[in-house]
Amino acid sequence: MKINFNQLDRGYQKYKDEYDKAAISALESGWYILGNKLAKFEEKFAHFIGSKYCVGLNSGLDALILAFRALEIGIGDEVIVPANTYIASVLGISENGATPIFVEPDEYYNLDAEKIEEKITEKTKAILAVHLYGQAANMTKIKEIADKYQLYLIEDCAQSHGAKHGDTVTGAWGDIGCFSFYPTKNIGAFGDSGAIVTNNDEIYEKMKMLRNYGSKMKYQNEILGVNSRLDEIQAALLSVKLSHYSELRNERTYIASKYLQGLKNSKIELPEIRNLSEHVWHLFIVSVAERDVFQKYLLENGIATQCHYPIPPHLSEAYGYLGYKLGDYPITESYANSVVSLPLYDGMTDQEIEYVIEKVNGF
Ligand SMILES: *Cc1c(COP(=O)(O)O)cnc(C)c1O
Repeated sequence: MKINFNQLDRGYQKYKDEYDKAAISALESGWYILGNKLAKFEEKFAHFIGSKYCVGLNSGLDALILAFRALEIGIGDEVIVPANTYIASVLGISENGATPIFVEPDEYYNLDAEKIEEKITEKTKAILAVHLYGQAANMTKIKEIADKYQLYLIEDCAQSHGAKHGDTVTGAWGDIGCFSFYPTKNIGAFGDSGAIVTNNDEIYEKMKMLRNYGSKMKYQNEILGVNSRLDEIQAALLSVKLSHYSELRNERTYIASKYLQGLKNSKIELPEIRNLSEHVWHLFIVSVAERDVFQKYLLENGIATQCHYPIPPHLSEAYGYLGYKLGDYPITESYANSVVSLPLYDGMTDQEIEYVIEKVNGF
């Protein structure tokens, strides 16, 4: 049997008629940018998160970049960010000229709240919490620290659509929640797109200007903006996907629970779930000491895996200018050497799930 890491066409086929209808309706409308379909999606998505506002953007990275820009965080400022994250989280900070200050992860792969305070200086302006792999970070504690030091709290929810910590959905904890709708994300579009959510009127108005050349009224530019707009076709398609979210979420939970029950191999460490934090299983991460051998073995058996992520941002060539070296973030580095993601996607069959379990257990 051959199992891809992702199989996005199955997600499309599942609600094909609805997607086709939505896309054609957007095409036939004659209005392709900043129209009703985006407005409708933004309203639905804000409601889904439990935030007052949503602003649709080009990508998750744009959401992060514009979030820091809207809060006027830039040169000379420091932002706390998990060392164990996808590089886009960090790019949102450095793109504004601010300095990322890395903090080690806890045993749930997320920002270790106990290690934040020691990194706060008079230059610190914000904490960026990332809900990595689909599991909410320890937001009770992180919010407490942000409030205590009067720091902005921004959330990178690119992997955590709908995941709660306590009674609050990720994205609604902070001043700004940043989302990606990249096709592989839990709520994925059929192209690039992203969004921010906020409860703050001022941030909302500013974000709408930032995404549209800094203007509210055509040709009146109040601030320096960019072009980052979620288009009508993607918005229409995303509305369809969002309307099926509970089924999509249940499906991911079903696959993850099959894995959690079925995987039994002392060489493989399974993911753990934090008390109070929901997991929406964007990725199913296991930890294996002999990671490379494991991946090769699975591939020989037809199973594709991926590694999220093999090089932590502080060791990437791009951030060489920050001057970090191997050994500076040992927990993050050990995760980077041992994590591997098993296939988990919409439309995965029982037979495929069982096959993965059988082969992993046979390692
Ligand atoms: C995907 C992702 C992003 C970037 O989103 P894009 O839409 O691809 O720009 C940012 N942060 C995290 C954690 C992600 O997984």
